[in-house]
Amino acid sequence: MHNITEIGMEYDVLRENVKIAHANHQLLTENNIRSVDIMGSIGSGKTSLIVRIAEKLTAKGIRVGAIAGDVTGDDDFKRMVSANISATNCNTGHECHLDANMVKRSLKKMDLRSIDVLLIENVGNLVCPADFPLGTDLRMVVISTTEGDDMVRKHPDIFLHSDIAVINKTDIAEYVDVDISVIKNDYSKLTGGALKMMECSVKKDKGVDEIISALKLW
Ligand code: MG
Ligand code: ZN
Repeated sequence: MHNITEIGMEYDVLRENVKIAHANHQLLTENNIRSVDIMGSIGSGKTSLIVRIAEKLTAKGIRVGAIAGDVTGDDDFKRMVSANISATNCNTGHECHLDANMVKRSLKKMDLRSIDVLLIENVGNLVCPADFPLGTDLRMVVISTTEGDDMVRKHPDIFLHSDIAVINKTDIAEYVDVDISVIKNDYSKLTGGALKMMECSVKKDKGVDEIISALKLW
């Protein structure tokens, strides 16, 4: 339970975050960089999707940069570097989400003149990243069929804070006994019918082009 002092502190933290997020957005816009915050649970396929998107954009001459947000380690960062992405590793230490200040520090380490698109991989978590906008143009949440059919009902906030929602690993839905239409209906209901969840299988390269178009990255 929060007492009143803690709620006050939390409010200040969120307000400070929004201020820095605005500055990040201004910096990215000034450098003509289109940016996306990619959120989702551990194992939903965020890194694989980022790598696949980057391959497709690179093939069209679009220069991709990325920030790999993780509590610790550099596994995702290394995968990005192997895919020729100009990546920066951002370890949060104890935090289970990225915040605008961490992104600000990461941006300082990057050559912003050498990229057209910035993909930020948030820490694997469907709860608090929602509260911390980073200053990107768009926010996207990625879930996978392996997480079950109740993710939208369990974590409505992150879906409401995202511009685009993606269900990945559709190719194995039947093997994990998940009916994708249940998830899509929940999402449609949550967003008042205004938004449709996008389907993809990064592994089979299905639906990725549509995601890139929806994010207006090419
Ligand atoms: Mg990852
Ligand atoms: Zn957190």
